Amino acid sequence: MKFLFTTLFTVLTFIASVHSAFFAKNNYADNVYGRPNLPVSPDSPPQAPILYHNFETIMSHPVHVYLIFYGDKWHNSDQKIITAFINGVSKTPHWGIAREYYQNVSGNIKHVTGSVEHVKSLKLNTTTFGTNINPLSTSNLVYDLIEHNRIPVNTNAAYFILTSQDVTITWLNQYNKRLQADNFCVQFCGLHDYRIFNDKLLKMCLSKHSSELHVPEIPNGKILDSMVNAISHELFEMVSDLVLSSWYDVNGQECADKCEPFFQPLQQIQGNPDVVYNLCVGNNKFLVQQIWNPRTQ
Ligand SMILES: [Zn+2]
Repeated sequence: MKFLFTTLFTVLTFIASVHSAFFAKNNYADNVYGRPNLPVSPDSPPQAPILYHNFETIMSHPVHVYLIFYGDKWHNSDQKIITAFINGVSKTPHWGIAREYYQNVSGNIKHVTGSVEHVKSLKLNTTTFGTNINPLSTSNLVYDLIEHNRIPVNTNAAYFILTSQDVTITWLNQYNKRLQADNFCVQFCGLHDYRIFNDKLLKMCLSKHSSELHVPEIPNGKILDSMVNAISHELFEMVSDLVLSSWYDVNGQECADKCEPFFQPLQQIQGNPDVVYNLCVGNNKFLVQQIWNPRTQ
């Protein structure tokens, strides 16, 4: 009964969140990514400043990441690289931009200070939820894992659902506002969202392992690095704008949306000038987009 109620609530929450995203702020979806070698920076042309909306919250605590590798085509080596990124990103200077974001609730100011910690990974085959998932099944997938004690209810968590290439995602067509099979990564490649489960606010992200992601050539291979870039994008936006109401500009753009085509500064990998990166996380090199800095804007 509780689960049924939660499911109904989820439907309502989903409708509400899609409404707020596509009809009001448009910060739910992320467009396909641009080329990294454009001779421009986020300063050119000028952009609207990102604004804090009073009393709204950010994630100031350590972020506990659960990676749910969904689908039957995941390689262990790819999972390891994604896990390495999650484990190390908050130790890089890049994460310093996340720390510039804060909340001000009745004068009590808190910054994003938490580290990002990988807590658990699990592989989930498509037996229960199939090879085509949609917004409702992604949240039900998380609930199902909780109810089977495979992951806990954790309000500090970011549950990432990462689909392999054999999985299609039915998603909202941005233009006709209808669900459309395999629409994910046509207009955007990742999203962050939240759901209420047993009165707890749970944060979720979804990204697809797909060659449709439009990031060029990079250290770990186009498909995987594209996905890491989408994960990075959503992680920054989740900590700074967890319920889609804290930090965005007049156009509804969140901190990563505002820098989506920008990947500078690029460095070449020695011996292979065609492969570029801009972030070292542990022993791994990545190419991730820049993030908007609210202090220096
Ligand atoms: Zn975004």
